[in-house]
Amino acid sequence: MPLEQAGLCPQHTNPPPNSLKEAREATWLCMEEQEQLCGECAEKHRKSKQTRSHTLIDLRMCVNESRSVLSNLELEVMELIKDTETNAIRGKTLIEMIESRKARYRLSQEERLNRTIQALRA
Ligand SMILES: [Zn+2]
Ligand SMILES: [Zn+2]
Repeated sequence: MPLEQAGLCPQHTNPPPNSLKEAREATWLCMEEQEQLCGECAEKHRKSKQTRSHTLIDLRMCVNESRSVLSNLELEVMELIKDTETNAIRGKTLIEMIESRKARYRLSQEERLNRTIQALRA
């Protein structure tokens, strides 16, 4: 798909250019067709006989999920900063541990995002 349409529902952006003003944000991804869908199209997708068995991925949930994991990590870091005040050496080691956990998490999210991007480009 053309790059400028990524993130928009193709059903609500085609045919261009007149319908672009109705462009809707794609919030779902159909794994079978590897197509992005807006909320309304996802609803139709679930009801239609031909497409109701398709797997729909909630793109917003992917984002929220990574946000909540990251904010939990922030809380842990805050706890560690308190800890650093009483035990600098131990705290430093733990912060390094958290940082490496964060890096690992970021890596797995990147892999997941890359898989999604590849699916969207196919
Ligand atoms: Zn589908
Ligand atoms: Zn749509």
